[in-house]
Amino acid sequence: MRKEVCTIGVLTSGGDAPGMNAAVRAVVRTALYHDIHVKGIYHGYAGLLEGHIRNLSLRSVSNIMETGGTMLYSARSPEFYHIENVRKGVLNCRAANIDGLVVIGGDGSFRGAKALSDEGIPCVGIPGTIDNDIASTDYTLGFDTAVNTVVENVDRLRDTTQSHARCSVVEVMGRHCGDIALHSAICTGAVSVLIPEIEFSIDKDVIDTMKKTLSAGKNHFIVMMAEGVTGNEFTEDEHLSAAMLAKYIQDKTGVQTRSTVLGHIQRGGRPTARDRVLAASMGSHAVRLLRDGNGSRVVGERNNTIVDFEITEALAMEKNVDWELFRVAKEISL
Ligand code: ADP
Repeated sequence: MRKEVCTIGVLTSGGDAPGMNAAVRAVVRTALYHDIHVKGIYHGYAGLLEGHIRNLSLRSVSNIMETGGTMLYSARSPEFYHIENVRKGVLNCRAANIDGLVVIGGDGSFRGAKALSDEGIPCVGIPGTIDNDIASTDYTLGFDTAVNTVVENVDRLRDTTQSHARCSVVEVMGRHCGDIALHSAICTGAVSVLIPEIEFSIDKDVIDTMKKTLSAGKNHFIVMMAEGVTGNEFTEDEHLSAAMLAKYIQDKTGVQTRSTVLGHIQRGGRPTARDRVLAASMGSHAVRLLRDGNGSRVVGERNNTIVDFEITEALAMEKNVDWELFRVAKEISL
């Protein structure tokens, strides 16, 4: 007979993302609704190894949905790559009577969840990262908020770029994924967008496009680039910095060009309504999976439906670039 799940744990791990708190709240409230106790594990897997575990009540998660960051703190734990430490994590879960675990984080955190599941603690992962770099879901928690943060800031940048008839090169986050850049480019009317997944030529895709629009009367420009793009005309594999690209554009077009690296502000802030709904749906689904005796799974959203996959299967999926959206960005940029 299947063992009844009496207590679940929840932790946040890896890079933080807006919406993690909303997901923690959803996990706690759903579990308590189903008469399952909840324990919070603080500081990710590092906290699990050190036994930073506390009971969470309905009221422990009041007033957190609207805040960025994570009340459980997040961490990276290099120790957790070693199986003997995973086993120590299992013992700490057992000592705290934790029968199952919800892990909110990126694909690295899912690998940790898989290791724990293999050692006997059923885990369910919720994709929490602004990068939207997880193939098993159309959207990760925090992505929508990050894109909105970029758009709000680039709107401000556009005011001053327009007043001086300049060009602004904006570098956004996303690691090896260009989704933040692509979505933000469309929302801000960027003249060009450079992402790691699609090969580009700076001369053809940035300089020629700018010259074409200059002759058509456009006098201010936003060029959006993802942090993960590598050099092109410059060098084979050197990281292409926003400053490097800005200088090149200015030299080639004569348009005064500035660079802005938005950086970690993209990781913070109030989660959007979209991320809160996603957090609620995914958190609730994760708890129901554990309650029904499922472990080693990750939750996702595909075509507006909440789905789940076995962790190894999810990690093996390949994320495809949205060519259709890229085409749209290009066609409406002039
Ligand atoms: P993210 O979850 O945002 O992708 P990381 O890749 O840094 O972030 O992973 C977060 C943590 O997950 C790591 O610090 C480590 O503790 C754990 N982890 C990652 N990969 C593994 C693995 N193969 N086995 C066990 N734990 C892992």
